[in-house]
Amino acid sequence: MLSHTRYISFELSNLCNNSRHHIRCPLHGKEVWKYPARRSTLPLALILRTLEELARFDFHGTVGYNIYNEPLIDPRLFLIIQKTHEILGPCSTYLLTNGCFLTQQLVSEAYEFGLDNLQISTYSDQEHEYCSTFTIPKGKAFLARRTTLIDLSDQFKGPYLDLHEPCHGPLGEICVCCTGHITLCCREWMRTGEYFFGNLNETPLHDILAQGKMEKTWERLSRGDRYLDICRRCETSRCFGEKK
Ligand code: SF4
Repeated sequence: MLSHTRYISFELSNLCNNSRHHIRCPLHGKEVWKYPARRSTLPLALILRTLEELARFDFHGTVGYNIYNEPLIDPRLFLIIQKTHEILGPCSTYLLTNGCFLTQQLVSEAYEFGLDNLQISTYSDQEHEYCSTFTIPKGKAFLARRTTLIDLSDQFKGPYLDLHEPCHGPLGEICVCCTGHITLCCREWMRTGEYFFGNLNETPLHDILAQGKMEKTWERLSRGDRYLDICRRCETSRCFGEKK
């Protein structure tokens, strides 16, 4: 059932310290963006239950802790990283952060709790210089990447691009929103429900997969049939090492 799945991302909350500065961020302003207006956190019990299901599927891919949230805001993060390894055994834990809360002490402790891969998106030269100095344990992955704020508004109202490039988004990465919904991919920020496959608060992962909707969507998109409205507007694709 998970033969195409390389990643699972748990969006731990809808909180990000940068959202108020980034007017195009899905978390910024409830009138403009139809994202859940209230604070929302993904229940720990749901995360652990889903990890246990993944273990039964023999999943040993990558587990991440963000979609549109800043994961280091969440006080449960290191515990969840530790539990991920306890439950799944061999796997890769991945932390993508804006780095605003990081110190060398926290970086070291994150790796001690089982983090395998730390990637920091830095938004100023000063921040980049600071984060680039972190000392990383031998054999662990780390990247500080200077980046800019992105605007995904065209994903829902821009012109159709109608690319035919294969995309392995929906099953290649399972995206669990902070509301418990599994959505199409990380580009689906509006969360209207149109692209949801189910909600892990109500339905176990196994049953959502067994409905076959995710797999059918994967099959069409992975052969370049971008039949969904959001995919017709998308200028990218997700490949996860699959052949194009
Ligand atoms: S084509 Fe774009 S919007 Fe569609 S699943 Fe792939 S990455 Fe997501």
